[in-house]
Order: sequence, then C-alpha cells, then structure tokens
Amino acid sequence: MTKTAIISGVTGQDGAYLAQLLINENYKVVGLTRSYNNFNSRSFKYLGIDDKIIIEECDLLDFSSIIKILIKYKPDEFYNLGAQSSVGASFEQPIGTINYNTQSVLNILESVRILTMDTKVYQASSSEMYGQVKSLPVSEKTPLHPLSPYAISKASGYWIGVNYRESYGVHCVNGVLFNHESYLRSPNFFVKKVIRTSLEIKNGIKSHLHVGHIDIKRDFGYAPDYVKAMWLSLQQNKADDYLICSGKSIYLRDIINYTFDYLGIKKDRLIEDPSLFRPTDIEDIYGDNTKAKSALKWEYDKSFFNVLDILIEEEKENL
Ligand code: NAP
Repeated sequence: MTKTAIISGVTGQDGAYLAQLLINENYKVVGLTRSYNNFNSRSFKYLGIDDKIIIEECDLLDFSSIIKILIKYKPDEFYNLGAQSSVGASFEQPIGTINYNTQSVLNILESVRILTMDTKVYQASSSEMYGQVKSLPVSEKTPLHPLSPYAISKASGYWIGVNYRESYGVHCVNGVLFNHESYLRSPNFFVKKVIRTSLEIKNGIKSHLHVGHIDIKRDFGYAPDYVKAMWLSLQQNKADDYLICSGKSIYLRDIINYTFDYLGIKKDRLIEDPSLFRPTDIEDIYGDNTKAKSALKWEYDKSFFNVLDILIEEEKENL
C-alpha cells in the first residue's frame, strides 16, 4: 500500500533530498511551505521531482492549519524539518527563532495527539543543543548545554518530542543531526559560502572570502546520506532518539585551505573579520554514531574532504 508522508520545510536542503528519497520509495509526498508567495521549486527541479510532490501552504504556528492538513492527508509519517535553521541568524532574531522552532513542534505533536492519529513524527533536532560539552564524542546520553538561541529552540523541541512520546505515547523520533552539507545548502551556511565564494574569486567576480571565527571544529557529513537516516529512523517499531553524524570533526580553517588549494586560490584572499564572530561558539564537537549504525543499519563512512570534492565539482557545474 502507498504510504503518505508530510514534510515541513520541504523547500530546504533536507526537505528536497528527503522528498526525492521518499518518492523513490513510492510514497505520496506532501510538502509544506509557509507561503506560496515565496515558494521556490528550484531544488525540486534540480532533483527532477517537481511534478511528483504535492505542495500545501501551511503555517506551522497556526494550529488549525496543521489539523486541517492532517485530516486531509492522514499521513503515515510527518517529518518536521521546517525551522529558522541558522545559528548566526538566531542571535539577530532570538525571539522569532525560539518562538517558531518550539511552537511549531508543539502544534504538530498536539495535533497528532488530539486527533488520536498513529502518524509517526520525525523531529529535526540538532547537535547544537549539546553546546558546551565536557567530553567527546557526544552520545545520546550527553547533557544539553545550548549556546545560542537556535540551540535553545532545538533543545526545547527535543524535549517536547520526548515528552509527547513518554506522556501520551505519540510516536516521535528525535533525529539529532550534526552539520551536513550538499549543493542545495542555503548560501548563508559556511561550507556553501566557502565553495561558492571561492569559485567567484577564481572567476574574478569577487576578490575575497570574509569569514568569522574559523579555528573551531565541527562534525560534517553529506546531506543525501543523512536524510536516509531520517527515513530509517521512522521505519522502526519503537520511537527513539538517534545521533546522525560522521564521528569526526575538522577545523573550518582546513575546509577553506582545502577548497583554496583545490581551486588554486592564494591564501591572501581570506579575510578573518572579528565583526562576524558570534557571541558564543562551540569550540569542538563530534558525535558517536554507533547506535544509528547498529539499530537503523545506517551506513556512513565518508571523509568530509571527499564530500568537499563532490560539492566543489557540483557547484562548478552549476555556477
Ligand atoms: P533549511 O535549508 O534552512 O530549510 C528550512 C526550511 O524551513 C525552509 O526551506 C523554510 O521553508 C522553512 N522555514 C520555516 N520557518 C522558517 C523560518 N522562520 N525561517 C527560515 N525558514 C523557515 O534547513 P535544512 O538544512 O534543510 O535543515 C532541516 C532541519 O534540520 C531544520 O529544522 C534544521 O534546523 C535541522 N538541522 C539541520 C542541520 C544541517 O546541518 N543542515 C543540522 C541539524 C539540524 P518555507 O519557507 O518554504 O516554509
């Protein structure tokens, strides 16, 4: 029987790759966007799925809109990926970020509970919620210590998910994802910005790459592989939480050096700008993916430098 899945934030990086995966698995896919006016199908066209998704306008802050969508489609699975997803922007818009990213989770889970639906819900949690960690790697048991408004909002969404699971038996899975990148990443995120700007420097369109604090380390992976883990996590009989990560961290500076060397750009094209530093930043973070690999049979063993090769080449082809 054909399964139906709803994806909020379907226009984002993960939403588009997840929609592609689910379509390939023969799902009926309903993608939610906040507004038809700003709706952009560029990612779907790029992945060749623009005529295979049903798009619905749905404001996740509006409880009744979610109820209507759930009644209309009776989805087997609901992937909640819609969010203000930028740590940097969250320092500029703390109230909007925290309000949206927590109220939306609550509205979805409360709707599923009130309608007594057996829809499985995936909540997009983030490694950012661990923040200041005392030991590495991060595991599912690491205490949360968020360092940004975005991280606070994701920590709150995480606990809302746990609470609906424990208190009401709603099947809610928290997928705690570490940074993952792709050609479809928004240009305001670090890796995409480095690659795109480097190509623009190479082509004489820009002179320099301006960055903030780059002597910090992050655990980076490849988005098309990470959305597979999202899907696998909802195929289990019991709802649980999973860390999705590569298990290694690398310096942001090394990503720039690698990209500059790959494209033959001199290091004096890099400008480190203290005005771009964040009020607080995680120094180093990487996770333990043992549980996801064993329980979900999720496979991942890519070096991020190999992922960078893919991303640079894809960006070159499409610039
Ligand atoms: P993304 O590219 O930024 O897409 C997020 C989508 O959410 C947008 O396309 C937008 O779609 C929707 N949205 C709803 N409210 C928004 C708001 N106030 N501001 C901006 N966009 C809003 O995110 P992503 O990289 O695909 O990530 C998917 C989810 O995973 C997010 O919840 C993110 O926080 C989480 N996450 C991502 C990573 C990562 O490395 N990518 C890591 C950990 C967790 P419409 O405008 O069409 O509604």
